[in-house]
Amino acid sequence: MRFANQVAVVTGAGRGIGHAIAMTLASEGARVAVISRNESNALRTADEINAKHAGLAKAYAVDVASHSAVATIAEQILSDFSRVDILVNNAGVTRDGLSMRLSEEDWDLVIDTNLKGTFNFIQAFERTMIKQRSGRIINIGSVAGLMGNAGQANYAASKAGLLGLSKTIARELASRGITCNVVAPGFIATDMTEVLPEKVKQAVIPQIPLGRFGQPEDIAAAVAFLASADAKYITGQCLTVDGGMVM
Ligand code: NDP
Repeated sequence: MRFANQVAVVTGAGRGIGHAIAMTLASEGARVAVISRNESNALRTADEINAKHAGLAKAYAVDVASHSAVATIAEQILSDFSRVDILVNNAGVTRDGLSMRLSEEDWDLVIDTNLKGTFNFIQAFERTMIKQRSGRIINIGSVAGLMGNAGQANYAASKAGLLGLSKTIARELASRGITCNVVAPGFIATDMTEVLPEKVKQAVIPQIPLGRFGQPEDIAAAVAFLASADAKYITGQCLTVDGGMVM
């Protein structure tokens, strides 16, 4: 029970990787604020947690890209849970297209969700963590942010931006006992990768030394490690969980 009496906020927890992170943290005792864009998805995850560990989870619906809406929901979460020990910024979207054809709308949506959304949540909770003199912030990046990826100028830029944001937050908050790290997944089997054409999926496999897509639980395990006391001396780092794609 590494997270007994701790409160975790997990964005994008309605499905995929965020769902696995919320389930893993709750299974080790954390109370979890489950955040999604659609209320029904957040409720489904919160119900699943509460069915196993009654009263640990509460669902919230918010668009992470809205600074004012995030500030409002953060106040609600603090009023419901009184504190926040672990913040996992996982909500993310893709809108792929070659840079020549990428629309302004698709650029803005991806940057606003993946990068600004992460900043919005950090800003909404950092004062509380500073007062507590403790906290763990874990941002979900991507190998695309490390390597670039044709057809993902917006997505790769948003995920590369997370590295600079996370290192800056790590430096700003280290003296208050708060760490900030990135977990960069490779190809993980979720709705996000399910929509890739079969020939793209087959072309990716030979680039993965472990020879297969990862599971959401592989990312959740890395997040739980960085959130745990075992990782207290790790900050400003990027942990790549990708079957060996980037090395
Ligand atoms: P999914 O598409 O399966 O789930 C995305 C989650 O993010 C959903 O819960 C969705 O909410 C939420 N979300 C999206 N936009 C918003 C928004 N504006 N406001 C609030 N919530 C939002 O994605 P994955 O689980 O695959 O990905 C999770 C993270 O991991 C993302 O940051 C992604 O970039 C990253 N990643 C994923 C990889 C993969 O191979 N799957 C590889 C590398 C990185 P709702 O359920 O309500 O729609």
